[in-house]
Amino acid sequence: MASYERKNMAFSYWESKQWLSDRNLVVVGGGIVGLSAALRVRELHPNWKITVIERHPFGGGGSTRNAGFACFGSATELREDRITLGDALALELVQKRWTGLQLLRKRLGDQALGYRESGSVELFLKGFEQHSTVPSAEELEDLNRWIAPVTGTTQTFENIPSHPLHGMDAAAIEQVISSPLEGCIDTGLMMKALQSEVHKAGIDLVHGCHVTGIENGSQPRIRISETAAGGTWFETERLLLTTNAFARELLDDLDVHPATNLVLVTEPLQTLPPQPTVHIDAGYVYARSIENRLLIGGGRHWGIDAPEALEARLLETMQAIWPESKSVKVDHRWTGVLGIGQARLPIVQAVQSGIHVAVRLGGMGVAMGMQCGQEAATLVAET
Ligand SMILES: Cc1cc2nc3c(=O)[nH]c(=O)nc-3n(C[C@H](O)[C@H](O)[C@H](O)COP(=O)(O)OP(=O)(O)OC[C@H]3O[C@@H](n4cnc5c(N)ncnc54)[C@H](O)[C@@H]3O)c2cc1C
Repeated sequence: MASYERKNMAFSYWESKQWLSDRNLVVVGGGIVGLSAALRVRELHPNWKITVIERHPFGGGGSTRNAGFACFGSATELREDRITLGDALALELVQKRWTGLQLLRKRLGDQALGYRESGSVELFLKGFEQHSTVPSAEELEDLNRWIAPVTGTTQTFENIPSHPLHGMDAAAIEQVISSPLEGCIDTGLMMKALQSEVHKAGIDLVHGCHVTGIENGSQPRIRISETAAGGTWFETERLLLTTNAFARELLDDLDVHPATNLVLVTEPLQTLPPQPTVHIDAGYVYARSIENRLLIGGGRHWGIDAPEALEARLLETMQAIWPESKSVKVDHRWTGVLGIGQARLPIVQAVQSGIHVAVRLGGMGVAMGMQCGQEAATLVAET
């Protein structure tokens, strides 16, 4: 029976008819970008049949596995963006993050997102090999001037003494730069809220189906399967790929590559952990509180392949900053995959007739996701 099923059976008549056939738009990837794009297309085309296909039960990329920073870049991360992209493009990038966060908060509401106006700090640690140097007072002033058209203030970043930081070992910290403008969210609440909006909008969201191939003829064709191979071909009028880190599985000439990040969450601490979100090493390492637990993640710039060694290095960093964390164990650990490339800007464009992509969200896709989704929706809706 199993081999007969594999050879002859596909989706039922009903499954095909109600979810997969005769679509005006299929979106592949049910992360923040795919769901935001589908919602915007629905507003522009109330009668279109739209299906979002996601292969993972929750979302195997970044959208359900991130750290929940509602951020636009730490001082040294933005300094790197300016060097890599130049001032004008770097400002465009930071504007996307800023606008994306405003859109997300407006669309879903702070309560639904579990949004907390935490502020953020960037820490420079004593006795640790640092990826980036402490910005001088002049550099910080220049950064504040450069970013003011986006944030609306010339005081986005400021140097502060380290002693007001709750639970941190002031002796371990050389310098602190704070920003009152960043916040954090509950990532799970965000994705549940987005999915609920998608259902309310009459968009079909199918979890557990893999798109295993795409082709283009008079219309785009996609092969859909309940497993990672084979499947049944369906035509769709339009196709939007929002598969981010996994984009090259379907379109191998895109400049997007997967980069895995490890995230650790401790058991509850006795005292309340820090309220601001924490950036270290130009954003390559990040930490925050979740209720009375500490989260720390990242470290891919250390080039450590073995997960045990990476975990040890992350814990060493955490324990140097928060001595109390030495007495608690790690309660949750997971990995998530970023989509990165040579350039830091996302790719939102048509790639073939009827096929668009919105990918390469990098490390700040919570911030940029809705903005990129909406940009993609505008392109798709016009075709
Ligand atoms: C550990 C970690 C921490 C992060 N922390 C932050 C943060 O604090 N703040 C921030 O702004 N950003 C953060 N990011 C980045 C952010 O999470 C991502 O940039 C963002 O979620 C990307 O959204 P997306 O919709 O483009 O992609 P994803 O969420 O990756 O969604 C793509 C989806 O496509 C699906 N898919 C892929 N191929 C197929 C296929 N062939 N068929 C069907 N489905 C497919 C995948 O399963 C996946 O769910 C973090 C990322 C990681 C990994």
